[in-house]
Order: sequence, then C-alpha cells, then structure tokens
Amino acid sequence: MAVREMYLLPCGSLELDQSILTAGMGMGTIVRSPSYAALIATDEGWILVDTGLNPDGLMNPEFAWGARAKVVRPAISRDDDIRNRLQEVEVSPKDIKMVINTHLHWDHTGGNRFFPDCPILVQKAEYRFALYPDKHISSPYMENHFKHPLNYQLIEGYLDIVAGVSVVPTPGHTPGHQSVVVKLPETGPMIIAGDAIYCNLNLEGPTPPGNCWSQPHAIDSIHKLMYLKEQLGGTFIPGHEPGLWQEFKSSPVSYR
Ligand SMILES: [Zn+2]
Repeated sequence: MAVREMYLLPCGSLELDQSILTAGMGMGTIVRSPSYAALIATDEGWILVDTGLNPDGLMNPEFAWGARAKVVRPAISRDDDIRNRLQEVEVSPKDIKMVINTHLHWDHTGGNRFFPDCPILVQKAEYRFALYPDKHISSPYMENHFKHPLNYQLIEGYLDIVAGVSVVPTPGHTPGHQSVVVKLPETGPMIIAGDAIYCNLNLEGPTPPGNCWSQPHAIDSIHKLMYLKEQLGGTFIPGHEPGLWQEFKSSPVSYR
C-alpha cells in the first residue's frame, strides 16, 4: 500500500449564510465553517491537497482578502498558516512532492505561493476559467492567491496520482473542480470531496451549494460521489462542514 497516513490540517474558518452551503435552505442563518488542507504521506513522498487561507490576512485582512474580509470574516490564527501546520508534524514546504488543488478559489489557494518547487496539479478547465472567469462567479478567484510563478500542471479528467491517491472530476461548484480519493491502509477509503460537497446537508436531496458555476453539474457531481462511495465504501470529507472537527480528527493526529 503506497499511502501510509493522512493528516487533516485546520486552516481557519469563514462565516457564511447557510444558503451559500445549501441552495435555497437556511437563508439568514449564519454558520462558521472550517477550512482545511489534507497532508498525505505516501511511499513516494508528501502530497498536500489545498493550501488553506492566505496568512497575509493575519496582519492585513483587506489587503489579503479584499471585500471578503468583511463579508465572510475569515478567522485564522498563526497556527493556521499552512507552513505552521506542516511544521507541527515536522514537514517543511520543501518536503512537499506535489500539491493538488481541488479548485482555485481563494479559500483553497491561500498558501499556494509557498510551494514554488513542486508540481501543483489542477484540472485544465479550472485553470482556464480562473484566468478568465464568467463575471457573475469571478470574485472567488483572487489572482494574489493563485497567480504566481508556480509549477502548475494541468490535468484532464480522472487520474491515478500515485497508488492509493486518485482525482475525480466533480464540476459544478466550479468548471474544473476535482475531488481526491485516498485509500488508507487501516481506515480505508476517504474521499476529500472539496467544495463538491460543502457540508453533510448537501447529500440530502441532493442539495447543491448555493454559489455554483452550474447547479445541474453540481447535482450530477454529488450523485457521482455518492455512487463512488457506494462502490468503494469509506467516508466523505466535506469542504466546509460546520461540524467538521466534531466528526474528524485534526492534525497532529493522523488517519492511518
Ligand atoms: Zn471553499
């Protein structure tokens, strides 16, 4: 088995109207949703999935996040800086062999610039759209987050990354969104859904997120992930489940 263990690294939180998480449900109810990255130990080195919130926001929220600083009130501590979360488990950014971005929204790419030496895998459809997004859904792509001289490698469709780690296209939230399947030796499969499943309530109906590029695609992708889970067994890790840290163990504890 090529995967050894996986850590879920807390990367701060956001304040969202429930109807952003679940289209047409809970409007007016404000919830605080966590952001996280996943660190996977494989025989071929460390793989990081997403890079959390931009730590520049600690000192200067409006410089880092623009209008979002006031709208979704991101909260991060010094510990939530992706570099510090890695250090807690004795990993340095230079040790990371590969980053996989589920998508290029600001809350998943805040630390991308700290990984200039390794490939960053993104679906080609996502990279293209991030550079020239449709106006109505453009604001979550913040160029100060993703547009750096980095080694983006553009992939298309399903791909086995290393034994036990594969990506599955799950468009809808964004055009090139992807989820990551991790087959752990003892825990079994865990599916990092990313924002294809914001929270557990998305599975009821299913109900897509409220802020999608395409809601029909988002519903298809939830069905796809439910089918995949049915076939593989295992567990979904949603992108922004408010109760995430009641349900899952955070680093420095790992899943084996
Ligand atoms: Zn997100």
